[in-house]
Amino acid sequence: MNAATATRRAELETSLASVRTRVEDAARAAGRSPEEVALTVVTKFFPASDVRLLVDLGVGDVGENRHQEAVDKAAQCTDLDLRWHYIGGLQSNKAAAVAAYADVVESVDRLKLVAGLGRGADQRGRPLDCLVQVSLDPPDSGGQRAGVLPADLAELADSVADHAHLRLRGLMAVAPLGEDPDHAFTRLAEVRAGFLVEHPDATMLSAGMSGDLESAISHGATHVRIGRAVLGERPVIK
Ligand SMILES: *Cc1c(COP(=O)(O)O)cnc(C)c1O
Repeated sequence: MNAATATRRAELETSLASVRTRVEDAARAAGRSPEEVALTVVTKFFPASDVRLLVDLGVGDVGENRHQEAVDKAAQCTDLDLRWHYIGGLQSNKAAAVAAYADVVESVDRLKLVAGLGRGADQRGRPLDCLVQVSLDPPDSGGQRAGVLPADLAELADSVADHAHLRLRGLMAVAPLGEDPDHAFTRLAEVRAGFLVEHPDATMLSAGMSGDLESAISHGATHVRIGRAVLGERPVIK
């Protein structure tokens, strides 16, 4: 390992330890066991060399939000034992291709994606874990974030659950910018309670990022998606 790699490894080790401590503290504060909350490290904009170091430091789940970047990075990491989470916006004509490398697609937000994801899962020969992304935008906001409206969740969830090659595992959400995350995640917990009546085995709840993981964990998150707090600020796109 050269000096630059060793320095980066030490940096990631420190930031990972502090994020893990935050997750554990938040779980305990919510009266939950720390083992109930899993960490997905969001590696978008960072190179495959960082993914390699993260695996070396015990990370087993990484998240990406841009299809082409994820394709390239996954191709450089085929020797690693990793679960790839696709957490980004998805065009329906790319859905089958995402299923080729993703172990979990967290951003299923409309019916048009279901057939393509299912076809991709069938082609690779194993079922694909899916989360339905729920919009938490306040009803009057005009909607800046992706996600199915709570009113349309049941139909989309049934469609994923009924597909032979897809496995409905739970829900994903992003707190809207500028709103108190406690308010947004309170709505999420309500939506989830109704969803679990119909899909009692789909218990994953992916919510919480670097800025709001404590709030998400207090409202039931089972998976947090952390980028900046582990890897540092992302480069600015020009
Ligand atoms: C980038 C991203 C994250 C990570 O955000 P940080 O603030 O860097 O922790 C989580 N979820 C989604 C959907 C993202 O796009």
